[in-house]
Amino acid sequence: MTQQLVHIIGAGIGGLTLGRCLLRYGIPAVLYEKAPAVATTRHNYGITLHASSYRPLLNILGLDELSFRRRVAVDGPVGGSGKIDPNLLVCPGTVDSTSFRAHREKLEGLLRQGLDVQWENALEKVEETPSGMLLCLQNNQRLESECIIGVDGPHSNTRKYLSPDTPLNVLPYVAFNGKRRVERAVFDNVYAPAMGDSNIIEMRQGDVVLHVSVNEQQGSIVNIGWTFSRPARGTTDPLHKPNRPVSGATDISEEFFEEIAALQGLEQPFMEIFDVEKLRMERVLHWLMRTVLVSHQELCAFAEKGVFFMGDSVHAEPILGGEGAARAITDGIELAKCISLYGPGGIRGWYDSRHPKWENGVKESENTIAEMHGSPKVAQ
Ligand SMILES: Cc1cc2nc3c(=O)[nH]c(=O)nc-3n(C[C@H](O)[C@H](O)[C@H](O)COP(=O)(O)OP(=O)(O)OC[C@H]3O[C@@H](n4cnc5c(N)ncnc54)[C@H](O)[C@@H]3O)c2cc1C
Repeated sequence: MTQQLVHIIGAGIGGLTLGRCLLRYGIPAVLYEKAPAVATTRHNYGITLHASSYRPLLNILGLDELSFRRRVAVDGPVGGSGKIDPNLLVCPGTVDSTSFRAHREKLEGLLRQGLDVQWENALEKVEETPSGMLLCLQNNQRLESECIIGVDGPHSNTRKYLSPDTPLNVLPYVAFNGKRRVERAVFDNVYAPAMGDSNIIEMRQGDVVLHVSVNEQQGSIVNIGWTFSRPARGTTDPLHKPNRPVSGATDISEEFFEEIAALQGLEQPFMEIFDVEKLRMERVLHWLMRTVLVSHQELCAFAEKGVFFMGDSVHAEPILGGEGAARAITDGIELAKCISLYGPGGIRGWYDSRHPKWENGVKESENTIAEMHGSPKVAQ
C-alpha cells in the first residue's frame, strides 16, 4: 500500500469521493479547491444518482442505503428519500427503481467529512520542470508531487495547460435553467397534485422539453428548479450561442421569452413555472451542453510525468442526458482502490480499463439527449 501524499485538484463530487476513499485506505490526501469555504447555497440543486454508483460508497461512509438516501435526498428534511417516478419522465429508461434525487451540496458535505480541503486555493497553471511537474496554486504556493490528480471539472485548468488542444464540444441544443422559491401552500396546491411523491416531472411539446424538479424541500419553503431545452434550429438559431463567453450565461435574449409565451396549453405545474412575467423577474441561465474526452494516449503521457485525471476534467457529459456525477463517483472509488493496491504507477493500467467506459459514456449521453428531444436512438 502506498503512503505517498496524493494532491487532488478540485473538491467537487469526484475529488471528494477519491479523497474519502483514500482516507479509508489510510492514504493521505490534500484537496485544493478554487471555491471559498462551504457556502450553503453553493450547489443548491438536485442530481440523479443510481445504485450502481452510490451503493459501493455506503461501506466507505458507514451508512445503510435508506439512511444515506434520507441524509442527502432533496426531500430528506421532510422525511423523503428522493423518489423519482419514471412515468413522469420524458425518457423513462434513464432511471430505475434505485435512482433518486440527491441534493448536491448535502452529498458533497457528507463526502467532505474528515478531509483536508484547502479552500480558495485554485490551480493557476502547470509548469514542466526538468525534474517533473510544478503546480502553481493561488497564494503563490508551488507544488511538486509524484501524484497529482486533476479533478477540477469540465473547465479544468490542469487539462487546459497539459492538453490545450482537447476541444470542449458544444452539442447543438438550446437550454435554459432557473430556480424559484415556492411557499409550501403553493407547492401543495399547484405542484404536488401532478408530481405526487416524485421529485421530477417532465413534458415534451414537439421537440421542446420542459423539466421541473425539487431542488430542496424544507418545511415552509420548497426550492424548485426548471429547464427549457430543445435542439438548435440550424446555424442561425438566435438562442444557440455555442461560443458565448462564461459571463454571457445571464444574457437572455428576448427570443427566449417569446418561445416561452408561444408554448400551448400547459398544465400545472408547468403553467406556473413557465409564466413569462415571473421569469422576466428572475435569474435565468443560458446553459451550454458540453462534452470533453481526452485521448487515452495523452492521459498515459501525462501519467509519465506524475499527473493523472478523472471525472469531468477529462470526460464530461452534458448536464441534460449525462451521467457525470455517477461516473465521477465510480472513478473516485475505483481510482482510490487502484492507488491502494499498486500506487500511482498502477494508474496507467487503470486508464486501460476505464477509458473505453468514458468514451462510451460520452457517446451514450449524446444519444440520450437526442432521444430526450424526440430523435430516434442511434445504435452504438
Ligand atoms: C446543474 C447541474 C445538474 C446536474 N445534474 C446531474 C445529474 O442529474 N446527474 C448526473 O450524473 N450529473 C449531473 N450533473 C453533472 C455532475 O454534477 C458532474 O458531472 C460532476 O459533478 C463531475 O464531478 P467532478 O468532480 O469531475 O467535477 P465537479 O463536481 O465539477 O468538481 C470540480 C471542482 O473543481 C473546482 N475547480 C475548478 N477549477 C479549479 C482550479 N483551477 N483549482 C482548484 N479547483 C478548481 C470546482 O470549484 C469544483 O469544486 C449536473 C451538473 C450541474 C451543473
